[in-house]
Amino acid sequence: MYLEAGLADPGNSFKSESLQSFIENSPVGIHSVNEEGIIAFANKAELNLLGYAEQEYVGQPLKKFFHDPVFFDELYSRLRKEGFLKNEQAKMICRDGSLKEVMISCNYHSDGKKLIHSRCFTRDITEIKRSEKLLVLLNRAGEELAGTRNTDEALSKIIKFLIPSFTDWVVINELGMDGKAHLLKMAHSDPERMKLAEEYRKKNPIKVDNNDKNLVAYVLKTGNPQLIPEVTEKILNDGGIDHEYKRILKDLAVRSVMIVPMKVKQTVTGVVSFFSCNPNNTYDEKDFNFAKDFCNRIAVALDNARLYEEVRRDIEQKTEANNKKDEFISIASHELKTPVTSLKAYTQILQSTFADEKIPGAAEMLAKMDRQIDKLTLLIVEMLDVTKIDKGELIYDDEKFDFNEMVKEVAEEMQRITKSHQIVLNLRDCDPINGDRNRIGQVLVNFISNAIKYSPGGDKIIISTSCADNKVKLSVTDEGIGIPDEDQPGIFKRFFRVSAKNSYTFPGMGLGLYISSEIIKRHHGRIFFESKEGEGSVFSFEIDSNV
Ligand code: ADP
Repeated sequence: MYLEAGLADPGNSFKSESLQSFIENSPVGIHSVNEEGIIAFANKAELNLLGYAEQEYVGQPLKKFFHDPVFFDELYSRLRKEGFLKNEQAKMICRDGSLKEVMISCNYHSDGKKLIHSRCFTRDITEIKRSEKLLVLLNRAGEELAGTRNTDEALSKIIKFLIPSFTDWVVINELGMDGKAHLLKMAHSDPERMKLAEEYRKKNPIKVDNNDKNLVAYVLKTGNPQLIPEVTEKILNDGGIDHEYKRILKDLAVRSVMIVPMKVKQTVTGVVSFFSCNPNNTYDEKDFNFAKDFCNRIAVALDNARLYEEVRRDIEQKTEANNKKDEFISIASHELKTPVTSLKAYTQILQSTFADEKIPGAAEMLAKMDRQIDKLTLLIVEMLDVTKIDKGELIYDDEKFDFNEMVKEVAEEMQRITKSHQIVLNLRDCDPINGDRNRIGQVLVNFISNAIKYSPGGDKIIISTSCADNKVKLSVTDEGIGIPDEDQPGIFKRFFRVSAKNSYTFPGMGLGLYISSEIIKRHHGRIFFESKEGEGSVFSFEIDSNV
């Protein structure tokens, strides 16, 4: 036996087989090509790979068997230049005209000057290529589904990648609440041929119960995926398939079937049926695994889309309810405003009349009535303001004004109507500021009335102002009930009220601070507070003095 220099002696086991038999029976395709590019030798594996008899292959130019002759020339010239080719992928033409994906490694034997022959190994990489293709399909499917909320559109796109490279006919069913399979998508490489199947399906809905012979129903019920590599006559006869459907399957030349569940957290949500009608492309375990992965992705995407749709509908319903509530508040506050204004006017007339008549107790009762009407008016004004804020209709009249002057006016007015608390002013000198005097005053009224309302024991309320760095800051400090930590995050929200844990109940609608925060926001300022339950609160705002 001749061994090229550098090769280890293969030992006794090799000696029992001739080198020729070793090469001839090697499981990898081996061929040799002479200087003219003619195949001088091919082993059995090479001939089997492409389906030729020896005399059809050996003696022929190798180029003839390459799908891409230009690529062949390129490979051949590289082989001559570099002396070898390593793991080059190419497509070769089989005897039946089909193409085979191969990987070729070659080197050549020369007499030192010229090439005598090349030695080539040809490996079949159809399976590797198929797995790669399936992986690409899976990733594209994942991307399509992840990138859209419109699953119907995404499924149509995905089906286009699958047909015909992976399947000739695909049917996606979703399990409905009614226990029936609902057809989501059906597609075939030849849509005309699928029409009968569509009509059949319309006439014969698939029910999960009592229909175990139907494979789709069985998979929906059990979640066990089914692979039928070869659809035989026996399977058609024993499968509980009626005549009409059997004819459809035969018409479409179905060769191989996979029926795979779509599952979300172990619950079957639907089923995908893949039909191959190509005798060269029957399904095997690899396809089956791909189909399972694929169905898992679809299931999750469909479930996400369903959840998204539910949330969207929920938000829509809540928005609609909210709009109705706003509309109600708007109408109710408008309707209340006029009678309350006349009530106030009549009360004041009566107050002065009874003051003149000197009827004991009457003036005092009317003053109380007047204060209650003021409270009612404030509630109505708050409701009106909220609806205006929502519609962006709250009007601001900006002007230059003396901030401390405004604070003193509001404080005096509030002191006039409250006997229980003492309002103390602690004001620093400030330059005039720009803004809506009344609206900023409204924020201060809200701070003071809250400080009064939420300090039922009655005590001092301190109003302080400070001005620095073109900002004015105002704080209202009380020693009242304070706000529990857990309630603090919601305090500026609409209709937010701290749940009463103590014996006190305080009137209000939870609108004042929301309106105040909107007013301060409009002045590009900051509203904030500090509070400790049982010790009191400090409500503050800060605005630029020249907004
Ligand atoms: P309301 O009309 O309910 O007073 P606000 O929007 O003015 O509405 O206040 C929202 C909630 O914040 C109040 O219901 C109250 O629980 C709490 N709150 C506001 N100011 C104070 C304060 N100074 N002390 C304690 N709690 C307060």
